[in-house]
Amino acid sequence: MDWLMELDATEAVRYRLHLFIRSQQYYGNSCTRCFLSKPLKKCASCKVVSYCSRKHQVEDWKLHKLDCSALKNLSRRFSNVRHKSFESFSEYRDTLAMELKRFHKREMLTEYERSICELPWVCSVCYSKDSLNFECEKCKAVVYCSLEHKQDDEGHKAECQRLEFSRIFDSFPYENGFKWERTDFVFEKVPTHIQFLPKDMDELSCLIQKQIKSPKGIHEMISYYIHNDFYSVSATILYALERIGLIDRRVFTRKPSMTEEERRDRLADRVVNNMLYSMGNIKTLKMEPAMIIHFVAVDEYEVTLNWITFVGLFTHWLLNIDYPKLIFIGPALKYCDEPDFDALTIRSGYQCYKRAYKDIVNSLEKPDMVILLDYRNGKKDFDEFDDTSSRRALFKHKGVPLIVTASKQDQLEHFVNKQSDLSYVEVLADVHKNPFADSRPRRIWDEKCLSTCVKNDYIAILTRN
Ligand SMILES: [Zn+2]
Ligand SMILES: [Zn+2]
Ligand SMILES: [Zn+2]
Ligand SMILES: [Zn+2]
Repeated sequence: MDWLMELDATEAVRYRLHLFIRSQQYYGNSCTRCFLSKPLKKCASCKVVSYCSRKHQVEDWKLHKLDCSALKNLSRRFSNVRHKSFESFSEYRDTLAMELKRFHKREMLTEYERSICELPWVCSVCYSKDSLNFECEKCKAVVYCSLEHKQDDEGHKAECQRLEFSRIFDSFPYENGFKWERTDFVFEKVPTHIQFLPKDMDELSCLIQKQIKSPKGIHEMISYYIHNDFYSVSATILYALERIGLIDRRVFTRKPSMTEEERRDRLADRVVNNMLYSMGNIKTLKMEPAMIIHFVAVDEYEVTLNWITFVGLFTHWLLNIDYPKLIFIGPALKYCDEPDFDALTIRSGYQCYKRAYKDIVNSLEKPDMVILLDYRNGKKDFDEFDDTSSRRALFKHKGVPLIVTASKQDQLEHFVNKQSDLSYVEVLADVHKNPFADSRPRRIWDEKCLSTCVKNDYIAILTRN
C-alpha cells in the first residue's frame, strides 16, 4: 500500500484523475463548473447549461465551447415540446440523443452528453418545459412547473438523497482544487498516471474497503471513483475471476517476477499502445493472445461508458493480457455499426452486434468469459433470457464463466434459479453482494416513475461443467 501513502494532491494525481474519472452528469439546475451554487444565468447561446457566476462561465468556456453550438441546435429544434404521456417523452429523449449524434457526426455520445439528452430540464411530473420555477432545493436534480406538481412527486423523496450524494461528489474535485476537465486523453501523460493505480486486487480491496460517507480527501475520492462506472465493471469482473480461482491458475496470471520499474514501463507502454490502437491510430500491434469478453444484452450506454478505461485497467491488472477484445452484443445497440462478418477487423478496439446473443453466438470465437451486466433493470432486452434457447447460448462453451450482476437481489436469484432446468449449469458463486458495486446512483428513465438504483449491487457466477 506504499503508493497510497505517498499519494498527494500532486500534478500526477490530478492527471490520473482526469484520465480515469471524467464522470460528469448534467444537473440542470446547478452551476456547470462547481455543481454547487444555484445558477444565476444560462449560457446565452445554447440556453442549456448554467453558471453561478461570470467567473465560472469564463473558466468553463474552454470545455463548453466544444458542445455549445450542438446544444444550441438541440434546444432550437425542441423549444416548445409538451408531452401527454411518458411514451412520447421517451421518444423525445431518444430523438434528442439522435440529433446530437448527427450534429457531432459520431455514433456515440459521452456520458455527459447522454445525461443532457436523458435528463432534459423539464417538469418531472408533466414533462413541460415552461415556467420551471420549483426546483428540489436538496438534490437540484429535478424541477417542477408548479408547486402542485412538486408536492405530487412522491417518488422523488426516495431518490432525492442519492441524487444529492451524487452531485456533492461531482462537486468534490472542484471544491478541492482538482480542476479536471472534460478533455481527451493526454497520451504523453499516461505513463505517469498509471503508476498510481492499485497494482493488484489486494491493494484495490484495501482501497475499496474504506467505505465513504462523505468525501474528505484524495484517498476517499479515489475510493469513490473506483466504485464508479466502468471502473466498477472492470473491478467486478476481476473480482469474479479471482473468486472462482481463474486468475492464478490459467491464462490470467500476474507476473510477480518483474521488478516494479519493469512492470511500470511495460504497463505504460501497453496502455498507450492500446489506446492508440483502439483509436485507429496504428494499424498493427504485436499482441499476446487476447482475452475475449462477450458483453451480452448491453445497451448503448454500456458501450459508451469509458471502455478505454476498461481496457487500461484490464491490461494493468492482468499482466499477460495485452489486449482484451471486447465484444458487445445486444438488440438495444441502436446506433452501432456491425463489423463485416468475413473481415472481422477491429476498427475501434471493440465490436458491436445489434443482435440477440443466441443468433450470433455460433459465428463468434469462443470467449474467455461472458458478462451479463445489470440484469433486468427495467430493460426489456432481458426478456430474451426467459427463453431456453437464449439461455443455452449463454452456456455454449464448457468452462467459460458467466458473470451476472443485478441491482436487485431477488431478480438475480430468479435468474440463477431459472437455470436449474439446464442440468449442466453449475453455480460457481451464488448470489451475493458485489464488493465492487458502482456507488453512483443511476436514474432509470425506462420506467415511468423517476427512480434510482445502484447497478451491479449483486453478483453471481455460473458456468457449464
Ligand atoms: Zn459555479
Ligand atoms: Zn452554451
Ligand atoms: Zn408539471
Ligand atoms: Zn431532490
